[in-house]
Amino acid sequence: MRTKLTLLVSTVLALSTSRATGQGVATSAPITDIRYEVTFTRANGERRQVTSTMTFTVGGTEPLLLSIPKWTPGAYEIDNFARDVSTFAAEQAGTSLAWDKIDPDTWRVRPRGVGEVTVRFDYLADSLDNANTWARPDFLLFNGTNLFPYAEGRDLGFPASVTVNTEAGWKIVTGMALAGPRRYSASNYHDLVDMPFFIGQFDLDSAQISGTWVRFATYPAGSVTGGARVAVWEALKRIIPAEVKVFGEVPWNTYSVLQITDPTYGGGSGLEHQNSHVDVLGSGMLGTPVLPSLYAHEIFHAWNVKRLRPAELWPYRYDQEQPTPLLWISEGITDYYADLAEVRGGIVDANGFYLMASDKMSQVNALPPTSLEDASLSTWIHPRDGTEYIYYPKGSLAGFLIDIMVRDASDNHSSLDDVMRTLYNTAYKNGRGFTSDDWWSTVTKAARGKSFSDFSSRYIDGRDPFPYDQVLPLAGLRLARDTTHVPQLGIASLQDSSGLHVTEVIPGSSAASAGVQPGDQLISVGGFNADDPNWSEKFRSRYARQPEGTELPVVIRRNGAEQTLTAHLHFVTRVDARLIEDARASAKARRIREGLLRGVTQP
Ligand SMILES: [Zn+2]
Repeated sequence: MRTKLTLLVSTVLALSTSRATGQGVATSAPITDIRYEVTFTRANGERRQVTSTMTFTVGGTEPLLLSIPKWTPGAYEIDNFARDVSTFAAEQAGTSLAWDKIDPDTWRVRPRGVGEVTVRFDYLADSLDNANTWARPDFLLFNGTNLFPYAEGRDLGFPASVTVNTEAGWKIVTGMALAGPRRYSASNYHDLVDMPFFIGQFDLDSAQISGTWVRFATYPAGSVTGGARVAVWEALKRIIPAEVKVFGEVPWNTYSVLQITDPTYGGGSGLEHQNSHVDVLGSGMLGTPVLPSLYAHEIFHAWNVKRLRPAELWPYRYDQEQPTPLLWISEGITDYYADLAEVRGGIVDANGFYLMASDKMSQVNALPPTSLEDASLSTWIHPRDGTEYIYYPKGSLAGFLIDIMVRDASDNHSSLDDVMRTLYNTAYKNGRGFTSDDWWSTVTKAARGKSFSDFSSRYIDGRDPFPYDQVLPLAGLRLARDTTHVPQLGIASLQDSSGLHVTEVIPGSSAASAGVQPGDQLISVGGFNADDPNWSEKFRSRYARQPEGTELPVVIRRNGAEQTLTAHLHFVTRVDARLIEDARASAKARRIREGLLRGVTQP
């Protein structure tokens, strides 16, 4: 899954549609010698449309069933990319071929006999979403999952090439291998659709890190320059070697960081691939500490999820959801390693690392008790009770606790790093996904036989609060708890391109009593503009000393009309936990703490 930072940008969710022909039954006639062509000129950019052409050879008149993926791996939601297709046409030897659809994203084309068939369509490129396709007059981001159909029911192991027709002088960046002038190749469909493209005018430079070339492409041109660009490179040079050390190898030939900054985008989002990732950032994200953390997260995915992957996601399927109870490992533990890469690479110090862990504890504590396995499975339907992405912070903290327990049980001879590297070598390197049993048996082995079945059933499958007070001292750490009384409105909100929208109203809260409803657009609260990213802190500090029940104007927009509702100030008791070093830590606990922060295991 892509990471979502600060405010989340909601995307339209459409539920998977069952197939008219029955799941997995339809099979296309075989096709060979498959070539794709993408046409994107300035005229295309102005129309916000890209043209996709697919040419291949058929052996007879059997119908071809050509499908477009429903989702882009990493973005665990059904997006139905076929909805952005228009002017679909097929021809053979200069003659149009008859076609119809057999389900919402599958076209049935009837060839006239042996020979070459060409299929062509336009794709609407107006979605600023790293899983989709987005055009400006001088720029295109596209994902192969949007533009490259495959033959339904056939082996996806086919080699394919992509030729790009674009303006002379425009740049092209992709993780695909160059096979000729503006021609690229992939050895199978999974790789083909895992290597998004930037085409057009943008800034591009590269540097050698850990023995391979890393490229940094940024749109629009001039969006990351001078000291800001130097800082990005400095971060990448610190993060990548720290991550390489966990697995002991660099898995890519080149790596590309593809970054779009756009003022209309709220927050920031990254989507991982095997040798690149695509970031979409609101302007406010540039230069913040969020950025190195985002890069560290997305790059760690090159190992954890793009290669080492839960069995339910192996191989990827493009025609349906692939829920797994282990997404907390793919996402949460990736997020733990993003923090570790930052502290091990020297981007933050130990206190910075403790602060990131404390923030994650606060995020989890603010949400209903939710099992990591359940949250992993549920992400596909975007639960609306606030727990949609809880497997990021909670999974990260689970990784932290497991790391400490493995180090403690092995007297700091092994760690979570060994678990990750061992699974990478035993599952991914053997061409398979890993199961829950693989995970826990590898953890237990690293922990010199210590059983994790109780931990797993209570804290991973179950909803018990994490045993911080038992585990953290093993690494010379403890929680300092601060109790505060803070005003709380009782709403959850998401930002999209049209503003901040209320998604949940806690029953009995002051927002509920005032009549705030899910779907309302939040304009201001207590006089603070809700567009201000710091409004909730400002609100809390302004009203912290007002009496309970103080009237509070809440301005919302509902069905196009602004309304002022009256809420009453309500205080809740909040316990904030801060992770700190334990002054009374034993020598062993201090060794474990140092080992974890520095990425070493030594007695
Ligand atoms: Zn992620």
